[in-house]
Amino acid sequence: MSKTNIPYKIYLNEHEMPKQWYNVRADMKHKPAPLLNPQTLKPMTVEELSGVFCTELAKQELDGTTAYIDIPEEIVKFYKMYRPSPLVRAYCLEEKLQTPAKIYYKFEGNNTSGSHKLNSAIAQAYYAKKQGLKGVTTETGAGQWGTALSMACAYFDLDCKVYMVKVSYEQKPFRREVMRTYGASVTPSPSETTEVGRKILAEHPGTTGSLGCAISEAVEAAVGTEGYRYVLGSVLNQVLLHQSVIGLETKAALDKYSITPDIIIGCAGGGSNLGGLISPFMGEKLRGEKNYHFIAVEPASCPSFTRGKFAYDFCDTGKVCPLAKMYTLGSGFIPSANHAGGLRYHGMSAILSQLYDDGLMEARAVEQNAVFEAAEQFARIEGILPAPESSHAIRAAIDEALKCKETGEEKTIVFGLTGTGYFDMVAYEKFNNGEMSDYVPTDEDLKPGFDSLPNI
Ligand SMILES: *Cc1c(COP(=O)(O)O)cnc(C)c1O
Repeated sequence: MSKTNIPYKIYLNEHEMPKQWYNVRADMKHKPAPLLNPQTLKPMTVEELSGVFCTELAKQELDGTTAYIDIPEEIVKFYKMYRPSPLVRAYCLEEKLQTPAKIYYKFEGNNTSGSHKLNSAIAQAYYAKKQGLKGVTTETGAGQWGTALSMACAYFDLDCKVYMVKVSYEQKPFRREVMRTYGASVTPSPSETTEVGRKILAEHPGTTGSLGCAISEAVEAAVGTEGYRYVLGSVLNQVLLHQSVIGLETKAALDKYSITPDIIIGCAGGGSNLGGLISPFMGEKLRGEKNYHFIAVEPASCPSFTRGKFAYDFCDTGKVCPLAKMYTLGSGFIPSANHAGGLRYHGMSAILSQLYDDGLMEARAVEQNAVFEAAEQFARIEGILPAPESSHAIRAAIDEALKCKETGEEKTIVFGLTGTGYFDMVAYEKFNNGEMSDYVPTDEDLKPGFDSLPNI
């Protein structure tokens, strides 16, 4: 097919949007290891999980066998306001790089949250509402998840309490204000409002917080308040399920033009956008129908896949959440203050961890300056100002396209452009001033995190 036959943007129409989410666990021979109750060390039951999560979401969390799950009509309706998201052929970038590779990106930044997180936020808010709950609690680091959840809760008229990592709360006042505009209450974490927050403050006075701390506070607030449950924006199986809408749309768009990708790339924080993007393609690979090269890209400063251990670990600092078997740096690991807030979590999705351990995907770690170089190159040629998180995927996509330039291979590369970077201008400012550091932890730096792993 000649170049001109493929449009710059491949859109689906409303009727071509997915009506079911795809659960990749159904096709996995080695299922992800079960969540364990931290007290009994036995697999969590739906009943136990329902104390923390909405019941329907607890069921989705533990469902390793149903391949397709209907997307409720109300969620489809909401999706239609900002989806399908475009799959863009990066013709201009290809030309700039002088590469024979064909590059596509799936752009998830076209909604107020500025990221893919709304895909799961709306689903989680829907199930909370359907269960008759009053509200939900959550944590947010960089702020995208908190914003997405605030939007979803406003739509379903649910109360929304957000614990925001203190350093972000102070550095990103506008993110906080967007959440409040959507009706959420935002508390800097650690706070005096929870027992675990008070304990962390007493032990580490002056701490600027971490995602692990904020999770502990949000869980405590949910469990201790009648009519509330806790919701989480990444890592969990249910979140990857909801995010499969990204991959299903991508596949439907590519299929329209009979395009088969060779390489599929995503940034990896907790793994939800990457898991969602690759799910339907991974399903084909698992069933032996097709082969693809999947690449997870993480920051060198928080290298869960590339330097972490595959082990059971706590999901939060306060150790109140179930234990998950995942690639992890240890719940005691505190990442350096890199600028991709959404990628600063110590662990990784159990599904992706298992797939990676089975050799079904590659992972690579990249340093900040190289990431921002790619971000600026992309912004200048493709027009979109990318989120620092997304720019990890851009870096790897450009690197692969440049390899093709050397070898002359005409590979088709698809990557996830998860969001926009308008709230990250402090990071861009650092980069533009030449003040961005490339911190890579030494083995010595990683040791305390590994020492914090439970002995299971
Ligand atoms: C949260 C976030 C990520 C990382 O989260 P995953 O669960 O790994 O997808 C990536 N990009 C953006 C824009 C985000 O907001």
